[in-house]
Amino acid sequence: MAMKSVSSRRSVDVLVVGGGPAGAATALAAAWQGAKVMLVERYGFLGGLGTQVLDTICGYYASGNPPVQIVGGVPETVVRELEVRSRLLLRQSTVSATQVIAYHPEVLKCVWDELLGRAGVQVLFHALVFDVRREGDRVTGVLAATKRGIVQLEAGVVVDASGDADVAFAAGVPCEQPPEEDMQAMATTFRLMHVDVERARQVSREELKRLMSDAVDTGDFALPRREGSLAMTPLPGVITVNMTRVTGLDPTDPDALSEAERIGRDQALECFRFLKARVAGYASAELAQISSQIGVRESRRISGLYRLMRDDVLSARKFDDGIARGGWPIEDHRSVQGPRLEGLGPGEYYGIPYRCMLPVNIDGLLVVGRAVSADHDAHASVRVMGTCMAMGHAAGVAAALAAARGASPHSILASEVREQVVRRGGMV
Ligand SMILES: Cc1cc2nc3c(=O)[nH]c(=O)nc-3n(C[C@H](O)[C@H](O)[C@H](O)COP(=O)(O)OP(=O)(O)OC[C@H]3O[C@@H](n4cnc5c(N)ncnc54)[C@H](O)[C@@H]3O)c2cc1C
Repeated sequence: MAMKSVSSRRSVDVLVVGGGPAGAATALAAAWQGAKVMLVERYGFLGGLGTQVLDTICGYYASGNPPVQIVGGVPETVVRELEVRSRLLLRQSTVSATQVIAYHPEVLKCVWDELLGRAGVQVLFHALVFDVRREGDRVTGVLAATKRGIVQLEAGVVVDASGDADVAFAAGVPCEQPPEEDMQAMATTFRLMHVDVERARQVSREELKRLMSDAVDTGDFALPRREGSLAMTPLPGVITVNMTRVTGLDPTDPDALSEAERIGRDQALECFRFLKARVAGYASAELAQISSQIGVRESRRISGLYRLMRDDVLSARKFDDGIARGGWPIEDHRSVQGPRLEGLGPGEYYGIPYRCMLPVNIDGLLVVGRAVSADHDAHASVRVMGTCMAMGHAAGVAAALAAARGASPHSILASEVREQVVRRGGMV
């Protein structure tokens, strides 16, 4: 069967590619501004890695006790809606001195459906964006592959929230991507049920490390790491496990990514076998779920008008065109010994400039989420979901303003974006 050339054309004000925390937040905020919005997602549900791979919002609070909230607006709306429908668990992060919010990922899928539905966002599921339409240096739309063939989608402004900068890359925006060996490790997560959580929570991080090291040294288990996260969830008897490590493969190369999926699941089963045999509380555990895809921490990032730098993060730098706040530590999963963490002081946060979302050479396009312009270390902080949703709120406002004026996102003043974000409870 030959793929039809272009089976339909549709036109909107703001077109968001990718329905992860950044894209779903962008679509919601743009619709709140009154724009006609379409979101295109390759899978059949929203939430991105937040429903495919994990279940904890980081970056909602700055580090330290008592926790200081550093994002509002869309992320706060999402947390409130989650709370209405299910139990949330506010707990200490397994890797840093920061409070995080654990939720039920299946409920989050429904929360995004409802929020976007109520706001009038058109969501096109099961559509993979693979190319762009350009007029000169301006992106005017995208092409998506669907079961019915290729669909052409046109928009006043396109927002790339694909996580991998797929749209920007296709449009010719220069992107940085470290070589495979320098990229953060990918990880397949899994959930266990029937865990004796009371016993399991008494196993300290140090004790777990010792047990994992013994298991590796004796050759009894082929564990990919000597440390890992066993995270409490709001669900009785359910623990989320983040212990796998897949390296040396490029997540933007389909062959390598296919290999990574297979290796990740294989590692997950081995980690499960270890936990059941060696760790208190897991003897009766059963495998409930393996993440629906491998988690990609790092891939392409765009060259934007500003590149957020490691020192900006660590010095809690503020910018005149700051449109969101980040407060998560630099969390770098490259070493086999475990994550490298470098945090900000208690209650501190840095600003994220609007310019990080604006590609250097292409108009009509904003890039949001983990593909924004940043160096390796700044990216290792800015990529968490609370921060991605906050950036998404600002991107949605900017895209809607630009589309309403028939103007370029580059011409929108950050001061105006800031004002609109704050009006809806966001923090800049
Ligand atoms: C193992 C692991 C653990 C993590 N743990 C945490 C944690 O505990 N807390 C936390 O806050 N963050 C965590 N993170 C980081 C965080 O989840 C991500 O960085 C964040 O989800 C990025 O959001 P995003 O919206 O930019 O991208 P994504 O969440 O990757 O969303 C991108 C969306 O776009 C869709 N898409 C991609 N390409 C296309 C295309 N071409 N066409 C159509 N749709 C497309 C995808 O299906 C997806 O829905 C973790 C990451 C990993 C890998």
